[in-house]
Amino acid sequence: AMRAVLATWGGPGATADGTPVKLLANVADGESARAATQAPVEGVGLFRTELCFLNRRDEPSVEEQAEIYAGVLEPFVGQGGHVVVRTLDAGSDKPIAFATHEGEENPALGVRGLRLSFDNPGLLERQLDAIASAAERTGAEAWVMAPMVATVAEAAEFAGQVRRHGLRAGVMVEVPSAALLAHRMLEVVDFLSIGTNDLTQYTMAADRMATDLAHLTDPWQPAVLQLIAITAEAGRQAGKPVGVCGEAAADPLLACALVGMGVTSLSMAAAAVRPVGARLSTVSIETCEEAAEAALSASDPRAARDAVLALLGG
Ligand code: PEP
Ligand code: MG
Repeated sequence: AMRAVLATWGGPGATADGTPVKLLANVADGESARAATQAPVEGVGLFRTELCFLNRRDEPSVEEQAEIYAGVLEPFVGQGGHVVVRTLDAGSDKPIAFATHEGEENPALGVRGLRLSFDNPGLLERQLDAIASAAERTGAEAWVMAPMVATVAEAAEFAGQVRRHGLRAGVMVEVPSAALLAHRMLEVVDFLSIGTNDLTQYTMAADRMATDLAHLTDPWQPAVLQLIAITAEAGRQAGKPVGVCGEAAADPLLACALVGMGVTSLSMAAAAVRPVGARLSTVSIETCEEAAEAALSASDPRAARDAVLALLGG
């Protein structure tokens, strides 16, 4: 039956009983953004800007950055959706020559993501100038979010800077401290986006690149699910959007449980949108909520997945 649904489902994202769930694409550049418009998506939930600069020795000018960003925004103009631009997530597994610190003992726990912006404030300011300029010249609705936020003070400072550029401000939840304080984060930002790849890494203290730790770097881990649920519930209480943009959003079973927790959007590689959207379209919001509860009360990742599968069916 899932195969038949997969063949006919064409969006937009919603549960069987009509609860809307925004399905969004993760993109890296103009080309992947154009390709993503072929999938039934309502916009972009994660534009990883640092991927545009991986092989650049020097920081591109504001004008050059604006041109690159406009290439990502442009395909989504007039589609009614928004594009979430993530500010430079440099450091750790994504070293950027003109930004990152060298010789860090432990780069995943070092000066990365938003932390880089505080010791080099001009970098963020110029990137925001470029994003605002790209939004203005394309007429696209650009939202801006920061990676690797650990404190409410960081979120507040970032949001202030973004809003001075006339843009909507959010932060990623990928450090456990941010999930635990989601309700306070939401007092200072417009939206949250859960990055389950890093949230899992930091919750489980297990390197996301280490293949021999795959049993730990699993978003079905009960501790990770608890942190996601806390964050989604805070969004529900605040009446503000909380999305998921990590790999977890691309798993059709987990996606249904995330929606049951209160997540309002799912952002993923464009290729994953159809399987996720099709599965979601067969399940009521009530069953999603039951799936969330079952996953949250399971004792390990395997049991959580089995419980959700039992509720949702093959
Ligand atoms: C994440 O950490 O889940 C995320 C979406 O960001 P990235 O994979 O780029 O670190
Ligand atoms: Mg991340």
